[in-house]
Amino acid sequence: MRDKPMFNKLALIGIGLIGSSISHVVRREGLVGSIAVSTRSDQTLARAEVLGLGDHYTTNAADAVVDADLIIHCAPVGAGAAIAEQIAPALKPGAIVTDVGSVKASVIAQMKPHMPKGVHFIAGHPVAGTEYSGPDAGFASLFENHWVILTPEDDVDETALDTLKQFWQACGANVDVMEASHHDLVLAITSHIPQLISYNIVDTAANLESVTQSEVMKYSAGGFRDFTRLASSDPTMWRDIYLHNKDAVLETLGRFSEDLTAMQRAIRWGDGDALFKIFTRTRQIRKDIIAVGQETDSPNFGRNEPLE
Ligand code: NAP
Repeated sequence: MRDKPMFNKLALIGIGLIGSSISHVVRREGLVGSIAVSTRSDQTLARAEVLGLGDHYTTNAADAVVDADLIIHCAPVGAGAAIAEQIAPALKPGAIVTDVGSVKASVIAQMKPHMPKGVHFIAGHPVAGTEYSGPDAGFASLFENHWVILTPEDDVDETALDTLKQFWQACGANVDVMEASHHDLVLAITSHIPQLISYNIVDTAANLESVTQSEVMKYSAGGFRDFTRLASSDPTMWRDIYLHNKDAVLETLGRFSEDLTAMQRAIRWGDGDALFKIFTRTRQIRKDIIAVGQETDSPNFGRNEPLE
């Protein structure tokens, strides 16, 4: 807990998993004087109020940003343009506007043109999350030891960038800075394609005629269950990610399909050496991820049941 907050007023536009987690951590760390919460529906707003996630509550995003020094767009990626247009006339000169969206080039294209002179817009993405959504899903430690990627443009105000970095570090995160297009390519392979594969495999299982639904449920510990966790994520959020990171996802998916075809061929022709080589390489990648602290080495992701 610090003596003096970094910002007098924070406005959170959208109060789901990410918005509510920010609320919890800034309260715990004393990072802001007050929090204005804005969301689309009366229902979510009422729930946020019951949970005490803010000091002021409104369904009008423009009202929420009045006098705010830090504004964080925490709604799905596709809402960026409408939110920017709505809040722009009410923004205070010198305010920092940022976001948490999983896609960056599109959010910049949607929001930056609306930003008034003297307002600092810096897009960002905390690479931390769960499959749960809504204001009840948040928790203060979500960002701890996770990366936040900021994607400033060339004309960024260095002082504002530095302040935003310090904010995320105070939330427990490590901060990296990169170009928006590079972010979108990196996240396509590390997040968007794995998620797509999960949606696809769970849907394929649901559509199989030769294996019953009850067999899929019963024997789900055979690897399938881990895909279902990802595939249970919020449909709106993920629809927006694919619509707004189309190019990087399609490019990466092309490479993925080629490699999948190579594996298919190796299985068809009984090329065990090729399969063994790939599986040895991939095993090392997991060891490397554990070594950099981004995963636990407990068996079965720390679950107690046996893994097949
Ligand atoms: P969430 O739990 O589903 O919450 C979304 C919030 O945005 C709700 O308050 C919702 O309001 C509001 N909202 C939805 N559509 C809107 C619209 N068209 N206009 C204005 N507000 C709208 O979402 P989340 O998981 O916190 O994700 C928020 C952002 O963080 C997304 O851009 C996502 O890409 C990014 N992100 C997510 C994760 C993750 O693992 N979930 C991780 C990193 C980044 P109502 O309920 O009132 O409709």
